[in-house]
Amino acid sequence: MGHHKASVIERIAEKIGLIPDLHQEEEAPLNRLTEPGDLTKFPPPEQWDDWVEYEATAWPKKEKKHYSIVPTTCFNCESACGLTAYIDKEKGEIRKLEGNPYHPGSRGRNCAKGPATINQITDPDRILYPMKRTGARGEGKWERVTWDAALDDIAARIRKAIQEKRNNEVVYHVGRPGHEGYMDRILKSWGVDGHNSHTNICSSGARFGYNIWYGYDRPSPDHSEAKFILLISAHLESGHYFNPHAQRIIEGKMKGAKLATMDPRLSNTASMSDYWLPTYPGSEAAVLLAMAKVILDEGLYNRPFLENWTNWQEFLENMHPDTPVTFDNYILKMREAYAEFTPEYAAKESGANPEMIVEVARQIGAAGERFATHNWRSAASGNLGGWAVSRCLHFLVVLMGAVGAKGGTSPNSWNKFKPTFFDNPPGPKFWNELHFPDEYPLAFFEMSFLLPHFLKEKRGRMEVYFTRVFNPVWTYPDGFSWIEALSDESMVGLHCALTPTWNETAFFADYVLPMGHSAERHDINSYATHSGTWIAFRQSVLREFARKQGKEFTFTYEVNPGEVWEEDEFWIELSWRIDPDGELGIRKHFISPYRPGEKINIDEYYQFIFEHTKGLPEAAAKEGLTALEYMRKYGAYEVEKHGYKKHEKLLSDADLKDSTVDPKSQIIRKDGKDIGVMIQGVAHVGFPTPSRKNEFYSQTMVDWKWPEYAIPAYVKSHIHPESLQKEKGEYVLVPTFRLPTLIHSRSGNAKWLTEISNRNPIWMHPQIANRFGFKTGDLVKVNTDIGYFIDKVWVTEGMAPDVVACSHHLGRWRRPQDKVGNRWATNTVQISNDGKGGWKMSTLSGIRPFESTDKDSKRIFWSDGGVHQNITHAVHPDPISGMHCWHQRVRIEVPQPNDKYGDIFVDTKRSFENYREWLNMTRPAPGPDGLRRPLWFNRPLRPQTELYYLDKKEE
Ligand code: SF4
Repeated sequence: MGHHKASVIERIAEKIGLIPDLHQEEEAPLNRLTEPGDLTKFPPPEQWDDWVEYEATAWPKKEKKHYSIVPTTCFNCESACGLTAYIDKEKGEIRKLEGNPYHPGSRGRNCAKGPATINQITDPDRILYPMKRTGARGEGKWERVTWDAALDDIAARIRKAIQEKRNNEVVYHVGRPGHEGYMDRILKSWGVDGHNSHTNICSSGARFGYNIWYGYDRPSPDHSEAKFILLISAHLESGHYFNPHAQRIIEGKMKGAKLATMDPRLSNTASMSDYWLPTYPGSEAAVLLAMAKVILDEGLYNRPFLENWTNWQEFLENMHPDTPVTFDNYILKMREAYAEFTPEYAAKESGANPEMIVEVARQIGAAGERFATHNWRSAASGNLGGWAVSRCLHFLVVLMGAVGAKGGTSPNSWNKFKPTFFDNPPGPKFWNELHFPDEYPLAFFEMSFLLPHFLKEKRGRMEVYFTRVFNPVWTYPDGFSWIEALSDESMVGLHCALTPTWNETAFFADYVLPMGHSAERHDINSYATHSGTWIAFRQSVLREFARKQGKEFTFTYEVNPGEVWEEDEFWIELSWRIDPDGELGIRKHFISPYRPGEKINIDEYYQFIFEHTKGLPEAAAKEGLTALEYMRKYGAYEVEKHGYKKHEKLLSDADLKDSTVDPKSQIIRKDGKDIGVMIQGVAHVGFPTPSRKNEFYSQTMVDWKWPEYAIPAYVKSHIHPESLQKEKGEYVLVPTFRLPTLIHSRSGNAKWLTEISNRNPIWMHPQIANRFGFKTGDLVKVNTDIGYFIDKVWVTEGMAPDVVACSHHLGRWRRPQDKVGNRWATNTVQISNDGKGGWKMSTLSGIRPFESTDKDSKRIFWSDGGVHQNITHAVHPDPISGMHCWHQRVRIEVPQPNDKYGDIFVDTKRSFENYREWLNMTRPAPGPDGLRRPLWFNRPLRPQTELYYLDKKEE
């Protein structure tokens, strides 16, 4: 420590305790965790079983603490960054969480939400035991039950539904996903088409736009090797691959890459960019097509890629049958198709600077293949036709031949590990029309946000409904319609909320079943964070600690706090009880691959996957470990360092044996399946599309009744200025961004995060504010198509003129009768219902200090928890992708004197009418051959192929 010699006065002051004694006899100092200038130094793994640090709270005493360090992964966004849990060996409790340097995606770094996991674990309001409701649903009365009792009750109801062929009445609805196929396996083993997800309020718009091009639904940009990076919207703050992408974007920039961001809001990402294009929401595709026009007109495109890997012949033959099929004519016709997208037109649509549009296009042209792009949520998830944004973005990637290139943009699946399971049940023989209704044959994921309306229309019912780390009442648009549906036992027989925290949806459950946070559960993760592929192991760290200590236990809830469990073991136990004698054919899918006839346990489940992970058993053996031991120790494994241009993989002689080549399309077929394509006379694997190429021209769009979108196009959004009456105070509300320190509805239990961010005012440009005379802090009434909310104004030039915005993830609530929970973030509200569809919410009290086992709860200094805006949003299902188009047409108004901050009103009758209006925009199935959905489109929990045909009925 190197203290100076103490003066006489200091010695006296130390002696009588006036100041801490800093000059006592010293032991040799401990290693510092982080040396100055070396941010990558972590405790060496050989010391992880007994890592010693000084106890910070004991300062100035040097009290040594012994920790066992166990890796796991973060659960607070989709990146699944590596974490290491520091377990106090004396108390057997998790003390803190830091980064895991052995995780190839995050490389030891985390955002604020990773370390804040400790808040979630120690939150004094967390649910520790299974609860069952005792009063009416939603009344707020609960009793503690055992896991056994809950499992038996739920299993009996599922068993009866399956025995009575009501398989479509068993539904699992996932909010925070994960598990890499775990749930698909469970639901297939039950024979139910019961997977529902939150994807259509999240990313399916963008996914559709990518998929229609190349059969992959997400991009994997190689930011650190790029020369030019183009991000659409609040990409990083919107959550996906936040920290792993952020660090690689900065690496790319440090090597000279330029960054451009399109976003109407000056986000943190936009503020770090070389070019900020504050585009009017929904105009992004017009700007991208203007850039494409520059690239085409100035000959900046990659001719070999376009010639070999796009289906230009099909385009000319179908759209220009009188034009000779030559590559030059392809370019010519593309230039004609996009002639109207001049920079001036794009500038008129978007408000962006036309010179900047041209400059960015030329920079892209100069970057060549090293052009990395990403679009997540905002633009593609905000607009009618939002899918066209990612389609037009990928068009630029195609023009540059950057698809799969080093420094370019690969398909997500190329950088995502696929696990091998010990058992693979067949797809269900059911098609659940509550999830994939005929009106939305191209919907990329389940039409989950329309579920309350489908239930009200009596399209089906649910006997057993699981919500898994999922809070639709709060997160989804139109939450009062969810409350109506969840409160009605004729629509939802039994609602089981699998959740780590109390939330607005769990209040309307029959069972609330406590599930662990990241350090308390098992899972495997793999995400396209960069050009490599990795697998990470989320594990219950206290279980691993208990195992190392030689403690006996069977289930994870025996070592977690209270009886907090994890889904993995829960599903195995539930499945076993649904089929007690094996007659339903379910049990056989849960037999251990290592102990014949015995029920599989969770260690064996992961053991099998890790033993079948390429290279992992060998890497483990080098350290004298098994594959499972390796993952328990390091928490992650790099399967592939880099993977580029995988479409160019050549087919082997064995692959080609007994195959045929279509003379016209050059597609290679074998055993009734397309396996590749001939390019310049050589057999390549290609892309998983009908042409095995990138499809500039989409026959699928034509076949499914949308010929106007046969090629990349600009779709005018539902909030295009032409659709708004500015003179009446109508503007577009952008509700799709979040503050980077928050997690959908799961930061309410993280005190550090809510301390940083706890309000969501309306971002408003001075032009709008001046029109209404608003100043920062004034109340504003925001009228949506189905109701209104009262919020406060934040006047800022960080917002494009003519656009207002409000961050989601704030405005959490509980009613007086509800169990207390998330008190760091929840307002107490009064909700009333007039019985005719009119719902009112008003705030009884804001956030207040409270007494608890955590001393910080008395120190809460903030009182404002924000306003729940989503509940006032009407549903807007895109007729093609099925994505909820989040942006809202709103009428801005000065509130009346009796309007209070946080007041909310919604008329669910108007919600229903609004749903029907958007439903009328669809072009329902069947498509060609009586299909419900294109066969080449993936879908979650893919049923048997015969179910894709409308005339085929279920078993
Ligand atoms: S980026 Fe996501 S996964 Fe990584 S630490 Fe932050 S919240 Fe956790």
